[in-house]
Amino acid sequence: MARLSDPITILKGIGPTKAKQFANLNIVTLRDLICHFPRGYEDRTKLVTIDKLEMDKPACFKAMVMNHPRTNHIRKGLDLTKLQVADHTARLNITFFNNKYAAEQLQYGREYIFYGAVSGDFIGYNMTNPVFEALDSQPVTTRRILPIYPLTAGLTNAAVLKAVQQALAICDPPEEILPEDVRRQYGILPADRAYYAIHQPQSMHDAEMAKKRLIFEEFFVFSAGLALMRAARSDKHTQAYENLDLTPFYAALPFRLTGAQNRAIGEILQDLGRGVPMNRLVQGDVGSGKTMVAAAAAYCAAGNGKQAAMMAPTEILAEQHYASLSRLLQPLGIRTGLLTGSMKDKEKKAIRAALADGSIDLVIGTHALITDATVFNDLGLVIADEQHRFGVAQRSKLSAKGMDPHLLVMSATPIPRTLALIMYGDLDVSILDELPPGRETVDTFLVNESYRPRINAFIRKQVAEGHQCFVVCPAVEENEELGLKAAETWAQTLQKTVFPDLRVALLHGQMKGAEKEGIMVAFASGEADILVATTVIEVGVDVPNATLMVIEDADRFGLSQLHQLRGRVGRGSSKSYCILTSQNRNPDTLQRIKAFCKTNDGFRIAEEDLKMRGPGDFFGSRQSGLPVFRVADLSMDLQTLKDAQMASAQWIDRFGDSDSAEAAALRMRIGDLFQRAEGTMN
Ligand code: ADP
Ligand code: MG
Repeated sequence: MARLSDPITILKGIGPTKAKQFANLNIVTLRDLICHFPRGYEDRTKLVTIDKLEMDKPACFKAMVMNHPRTNHIRKGLDLTKLQVADHTARLNITFFNNKYAAEQLQYGREYIFYGAVSGDFIGYNMTNPVFEALDSQPVTTRRILPIYPLTAGLTNAAVLKAVQQALAICDPPEEILPEDVRRQYGILPADRAYYAIHQPQSMHDAEMAKKRLIFEEFFVFSAGLALMRAARSDKHTQAYENLDLTPFYAALPFRLTGAQNRAIGEILQDLGRGVPMNRLVQGDVGSGKTMVAAAAAYCAAGNGKQAAMMAPTEILAEQHYASLSRLLQPLGIRTGLLTGSMKDKEKKAIRAALADGSIDLVIGTHALITDATVFNDLGLVIADEQHRFGVAQRSKLSAKGMDPHLLVMSATPIPRTLALIMYGDLDVSILDELPPGRETVDTFLVNESYRPRINAFIRKQVAEGHQCFVVCPAVEENEELGLKAAETWAQTLQKTVFPDLRVALLHGQMKGAEKEGIMVAFASGEADILVATTVIEVGVDVPNATLMVIEDADRFGLSQLHQLRGRVGRGSSKSYCILTSQNRNPDTLQRIKAFCKTNDGFRIAEEDLKMRGPGDFFGSRQSGLPVFRVADLSMDLQTLKDAQMASAQWIDRFGDSDSAEAAALRMRIGDLFQRAEGTMN
């Protein structure tokens, strides 16, 4: 018997070359191989007769070879082998390309099982390159459910299949980690059966059950890991903040806080008073007033003699936060500072000195905050704004500058609650589900190209009234093939031919950081009427004077992204509008966008988006720190996730400290999963 930790090179047929190819799939050991699950199956169990073969739909059938296969050398590198087969219903011509094996194996007068699809031409049925097996052979590629594996260059499905089957034959599958009562309660297969069935299912139902078990297991390991992290955190101790009188803070605000803001602040104050580091996510739609919630937390930290640091993803956001927070908090005796990369060295030095000697209570900044040069006197609170733009690593780098400081992260990406749990791991969540009063909804319309003159007239009207407009394009450069509006050329067209008398600016992600910032600042201060941009403007920039957002080829964006973009307008007192253009005629797509036009509720939009696109796209391709699930699909398997969370919580309660082999195995698996999550960071 081999062990799961043995290298796959102990398998027959896997030498150094093959091993390297497998390594490209992160498969090094037998365990990796057995945990390399199929991405789907082809059901080849049913045999049909030749007359029942459907065009372009591969199927299995039994047939006799009716002539001696003939191979013709057409030209260099092209040999055609032709033969005819038949069953009692029909005859079928088969052609193989460059297939010596077929030419040698297939014998006149003998029967075989074939698997392939017919394609039709005027002469009649024809089939190219079917797979085939002798009647008395072991079913490998026919008469079975064939797992289809994720592959890499050089590796065929057959090679992976063969390796997996060998591995399963010589070693036990991974150990059971789910307690029996959990399995019984949720109707879950035992580990060994699941691992066999996922690779060699007897039926599609078998495969389904195996998949269900493995998804459950993955979520179980994941949630157990989170629960352990949470438990570890509550073992940490920190100074419990005194509950300050917030009256001066409230009195200084130019408005009354919403119920949701008050609730979130209440939750934060409780966290801060607990003597355990806070780990809280404040999630609220664009404009829900997260900054003031953060301000209250900073006020409380400062009142307790601690420093607070707020990290924003862009310089312009940092500057905006600095402007509004220093205006609010300086008069209350809280010394605020700004630290960004583009500041003069002398200024940076001064701020850093003040942070080190404790003469700044609240610093707002960008990544400059996490560089080694930045040292705090006594950092008690870390605030990360627009958290989804930071990796977990950056967050913890800032946290490491204090002694287990409290952590507050803020995100405007409305994420369905269960997903938030995944995304933010072990964070507690406060939700701002209420907008400040008097906020008018942004009227949103979907139009096609025939509305172009009216769109242009509308832009002109807004500008004439002293307002500004955003125009968002899905691409930077022209792409003939896709026919998408590109920011660069579209900005030129607008400036040269449509609005020669207006000031059109351009902003896109391929520009340098400083250049982008400069353009944004100029636009915010009214130096342009129209800003043509790609999605770089998605992150929370405040230009209250902008009242119109035109999004070109809106069908190219996800709904959540559209929502974020739309959030750039409607931030001032004037009525705002969002116009979506699309040439798409797909009724589903159009209906999806129309539904978006009718609601301003970010959470509902997020749920819809998640259903449509799955979490990978949902979070953007470079989402940091998201665990890598092998089988589970976050958009499909939310119920399973909930079940697994429940089950793992109960398990931790009962066995969290257990020394049993089962518990040890679970802990190992947790380590493995979270390590893979680390691997995807940055
Ligand atoms: P978020 O960061 O959640 O998108 P902000 O904190 O930037 O939102 O707030 C958006 C705007 O709403 C800001 O101009 C802010 O001053 C204002 N605001 C915040 N809270 C309130 C409130 N309770 N009443 C009125 N205006 C508010
Ligand atoms: Mg914000």
